[in-house]
Amino acid sequence: MDNALTIDLEEWYHICTAVPDPLTPPAGERRLRGNTGAILAILERFQVVATFFILGSVAEAEPSLVPLIAAAGHEIASHGWSHRLVTTLQPEEFRDELRRTGDLLEQQCGHRPIGFRAPQWSLGPATPWAFHILREEGFRYDSSLNPLPFVGERRGPRTPHRLDNGLWELPPLTTASPACNLPTGGGWGLRFFPGMLINATVRRLNRGGFPAVIYIHPREIDPAGPRLPLPLLKGFAAYGPRRSVAGRLTMLLARFRFTTMTRLVDQWDTVSSSRRTTPSHSSPR
Ligand SMILES: [Zn+2]
Repeated sequence: MDNALTIDLEEWYHICTAVPDPLTPPAGERRLRGNTGAILAILERFQVVATFFILGSVAEAEPSLVPLIAAAGHEIASHGWSHRLVTTLQPEEFRDELRRTGDLLEQQCGHRPIGFRAPQWSLGPATPWAFHILREEGFRYDSSLNPLPFVGERRGPRTPHRLDNGLWELPPLTTASPACNLPTGGGWGLRFFPGMLINATVRRLNRGGFPAVIYIHPREIDPAGPRLPLPLLKGFAAYGPRRSVAGRLTMLLARFRFTTMTRLVDQWDTVSSSRRTTPSHSSPR
């Protein structure tokens, strides 16, 4: 069973609402190239291809990165341009971000992205127009709906499903628990929860015929990198525990099969998808 490994390619300071303007970098050493190289080396070691959701402004500042990632066979997808929350954009600003990023990524790797992930899962019921714009702009899938309290729809579907307008939605991995879903698929949760719990969740999903979607950020592989001064809770979510995510990544790559998001969507588009279109309450726990 194929799962999907995704990397949100952004700088260390792209932590939503933590900087006044994500397009104006704070002082601090740039380590994205080295961190991306470290991730690519791990993927090469395990002979795995992944999906990179790339921030347009980062691709512009580091023009060698996208060709390097694409040459290794990975998928180039869009993380928007500025890293502003979609909820703070007007519909036409959102469309402009998609087009500007799509134009640049196409110029750098030879084809337009067909997948999108919003900064901090900021796409959902408050931005219904965004799903239509994604479709109009040629996107085939989105990975922005995280079924968690505070950052998403806490009771939203945990497994891939098709939206009314034909867009595939691929939520990140979560573990169901009596109180709420746990963020085991990325961020602080992937670094914090026991490996046994994460592995068991992936196995359970796969047994039910569903892929797990894992996500990491380059800054998470670099615990010694620059840090923003953040309030306690936000600091914990961004940096704590401070250990590198590399251990968790290699744990998963050694146990499970991974591929790109587009290859998963291609598989579903070629088979009858009746079971996968009714995901919400039949999802495995
Ligand atoms: Zn991001």
